[in-house]
Order: sequence, then structure tokens, then C-alpha cells
Amino acid sequence: MSVVLVLGGTSEARALAAALVERGVPVVSSLAGRVANPKLPVGDVRIGGFGGPEGLAAWLTENQVSAVVDATHPFAKFIGNSAVTGAKLAGVPMLRLQRPGWQPGPEDDWHWVDSLDQAAEILPSLGERVFLTSGRQGLSAFAPLDDLWFLIRCVDPPAPPLPAKFEVLLDRGPYLLDAETALMRTHRVEVLVTKDSGGTMTSAKLGAARALGLPVVVVRRPTRPESPTVDTVEAAAAWVFAQ
Ligand code: NAP
Repeated sequence: MSVVLVLGGTSEARALAAALVERGVPVVSSLAGRVANPKLPVGDVRIGGFGGPEGLAAWLTENQVSAVVDATHPFAKFIGNSAVTGAKLAGVPMLRLQRPGWQPGPEDDWHWVDSLDQAAEILPSLGERVFLTSGRQGLSAFAPLDDLWFLIRCVDPPAPPLPAKFEVLLDRGPYLLDAETALMRTHRVEVLVTKDSGGTMTSAKLGAARALGLPVVVVRRPTRPESPTVDTVEAAAAWVFAQ
């Protein structure tokens, strides 16, 4: 089999690369280059954008790629569009691997919004001490909220504009329920903000908010273009072998 391109930056992408390499499939994983010190998958890795769908199509042709799996994060919208259009332009089969979104339980107090701007709009009605776990992009939405205090958790330091009162916690998952509950208690958090990232690596904060009776603002996933989609690494590996 010729090379398979895995569009990565997620734990599923790393697991898929490992599963394919183990079975002798040549894999190139692609990362955007946003994180200073990323967790690297096994197999070959390339870093940086392709230059839109046309750039991706050219790369697929030049590298004689036999299949593309878009295993990027549910909130990485632009590369999702590129994957569908670029693969079609190059005539290469393409699959989307996307983990299911999170669902609230009966004890949860979740407030769904479409964007970080909407999250910022409703925050003052929910609490004054905010645990912000939406990543370091788009934090300017919260900059005008001078009356609120934020615990901002992200992998790399966030860039201004930021709110007036905040503390930064540099960390990356996986996180555990007890530690998340203790963190939120220590910082007297009153409301949690998260994207609907899905998966188990970062879901402990939701259990902690439930245990502490705190509201959660959940940002809905952006829409992606239609494509064949699976939600497990095993199903994605089986699809690759069927090509
Ligand atoms: P995005 O808005 O969809 O991407 C912006 C541009 O970055 C794309 O148009 C593409 O540039 C390049 N790019 C994105 N992912 C790439 C990849 N895997 N390989 C090569 N180029 C890529 O994505 P984003 O939200 O900035 O996320 C960037 C990366 O971080 C993604 O790979 C994603 O899996 C990972 N990530 C994102 C989030 C999140 O919340 N957004 C969370 C965790 C991990 P060109 O148009 O030049 O090709």
C-alpha cells in the first residue's frame, strides 16, 4: 500500500498512525504547527499548512498518497474543508475520523452556545469566577469582561487581548476527576467554559462541574462538509485497509 496521510493534532490521530504503522502501512501524519512542543505520532511527520485545498491536492499527488484520514480536532474547521475538497481534486479517497460529542446527564446544567462570543455574552449571568478551557485561540472574546475572574488553562501561553483579571495554568490532558474537582474548588470556580471537544482525555472537568453543582457553557461544534465519517480508530484503520 502506498502512503496514507493522517491529518492530525489529536489523540485519535496518534492512535491511528500507531495502528497503521504497526501493520506495515506507510503513514505521514500532518500537524498544523500551532503547539510549540507537540506530542508526536509514530511514523513520518510533516508540520505546517498545505496552502488550502489546492495545496493539499498538489501534496497528495506529489507524494502518491493512496488515502487521507482527517482526524483533526472537531473545532479545526478550515482543514476539514480542505480535506474534503483537496482529496476530491486529487482523486484520493478520504475519511473523517471524529470522536462523538459530549452529552449532558440529568444532573448537568449545560448552556449550549454557537461561539466563544456567545459564551462571553451569557457568562456574567452564570458566575463571576470562570474556568476557561476552550484553548488559547479566540480568548479575545472574553477580554471586555473586566468584572469576572478567569482561570485560563491551555497548552501554550495565551496572547493578548485578555481579560483584566486572570491566572494562566499551562497544562495538557489527560485530566482526572479528583484533580479537576480539587482544582475547581481551590480556585472557587463558579462556571466552566468548554468546547464540545468530546472524548475522555479532557472530560473529567464535566464530572467535576456536576459534582460541584456548577453551570457549564458548552460551545457547539462547527459544521463540516459532508464526508464519509467514522468515530473510532478501529473503524478508520479498517477503512484504510479496504482501500
Ligand atoms: P483550522 O482552523 O482548521 O486550520 C487553519 C489552517 O491551519 C488550515 O487551513 C491549514 O492551513 C492549517 N492546518 C490545520 N490543521 C492542520 C494539519 N493537521 N496539518 C496541516 N495543516 C493544518 O485548525 P485549528 O483550529 O487552528 O487547529 C490546528 C490544529 O490543531 C489541527 O490540526 C487540530 O487537529 C489541532 N487542534 C485544534 C484544536 C481546536 O480547538 N481548534 C484543539 C486541539 C487540537 P492550510 O490551509 O495552509 O493547509
